[in-house]
Amino acid sequence: MRHKSERVEPALLRRMNERRLLEVLQRGAPSSRAALARVSGLTPPTVSKVIESLLARGLVEEYDSGKRALGRPGKLVRMATQSAMVLGVVIDADTSCVTAAGLDGRVSEQQTRRFPTPNTYADLLDRLEEHGRFLISRSSAACRGVGVSVPGLVNERLQQVVFCPNLHLLDHQNPAHDLEQRLGIGCVLVHEVRALCLGERTYGDARTLDDFAMLDVTQGLGLGVVVGGQILSGHSGMAGEIGHNTADPTGIRCGCGNRGCLETLATDAALVRMVRDRLAKPVSIAEVAASLDERPGDFQHEIDVVAEYLAIAIATVINTFNPTTIFVHGRLLIQHKERFDQVLERVRQRTLTPLLAECTIIPTRSSKRQGAIAAIMRRITEAHSAPSMPLRSVASSRPGRRPRKAAPRQ
Ligand SMILES: [Zn+2]
Repeated sequence: MRHKSERVEPALLRRMNERRLLEVLQRGAPSSRAALARVSGLTPPTVSKVIESLLARGLVEEYDSGKRALGRPGKLVRMATQSAMVLGVVIDADTSCVTAAGLDGRVSEQQTRRFPTPNTYADLLDRLEEHGRFLISRSSAACRGVGVSVPGLVNERLQQVVFCPNLHLLDHQNPAHDLEQRLGIGCVLVHEVRALCLGERTYGDARTLDDFAMLDVTQGLGLGVVVGGQILSGHSGMAGEIGHNTADPTGIRCGCGNRGCLETLATDAALVRMVRDRLAKPVSIAEVAASLDERPGDFQHEIDVVAEYLAIAIATVINTFNPTTIFVHGRLLIQHKERFDQVLERVRQRTLTPLLAECTIIPTRSSKRQGAIAAIMRRITEAHSAPSMPLRSVASSRPGRRPRKAAPRQ
């Protein structure tokens, strides 16, 4: 009689091999089976077996390369884009969006629907459902799941947004759970900074990095730290909230209730607020970006203040965690070369030299919507293979509750 573990091991091995190939396919260009064997280190027969299994599950698809190898048309394999899709949802203080992508994770403006974030949670769910259904109806592919990126404090254990200083309608809510009820499709909740880490790690410049930090300085100021391929979560998954460290005890009131939090001084939102105060009229971030480009001298004081506190935030991360790379996600001071150079100069003044010498500071190329897509793709690949992938998303299945299978599209 065979021992039980002998039957378990081949199944585990098969799932690990599936995960390995999904990893390679998610991170790279379409490949032939021979190329997949070379890159993955698996034998050609194993690759063929695994691909057949992934084809049967609709996770990958084959297509004709148009070239002929040894008289036969060369078949390439890629993540499914024709038969399967996923949705990414980004909830943010001012604007939210729903985006559709194939399982290759490629996002585009044509497949993205943006809208001003409504004032109530019920209205927000209505809009997310409406845009989600529209994107699903526009495609012939089956929707396999939805990744939902949220700001605020996300408790991994309780599976909810505990508190959202910049968008209080999310307090104590789990929009992924509620959207799952409405759409009948598996949804996964992910904190926005973890989403950025996942997006950069799966599709961006962190694909080969096991140690890096992600600093989001858009609306709030959030930090994600990846060490040895693992994201630092803390006891409940709420680690990284340096945006609510006090930087100016006499500063303005923050959404969290305290005064002078770093995020009231070092973010895009802070710069927009300062420009608004100077002009004494409401301004959008796009208008501020245009004003800074057209007449930067008019707002040099505001730029200097925010650049100074942003440099303090970056230096704090470098001095504390000694990362090889810091990705900074922001717009007004980050996406503009001269202003970013000004920030870097201030970082040099405020960081311990040996730590700075080992660290690269770069604007992130990924986005929260790419991160939301990466989060649901992580869920999908984990559901189909062994749970050993190092960088985990914040919200996986609720304790004691099996994740629902994506409903087939009608
Ligand atoms: Zn605060």
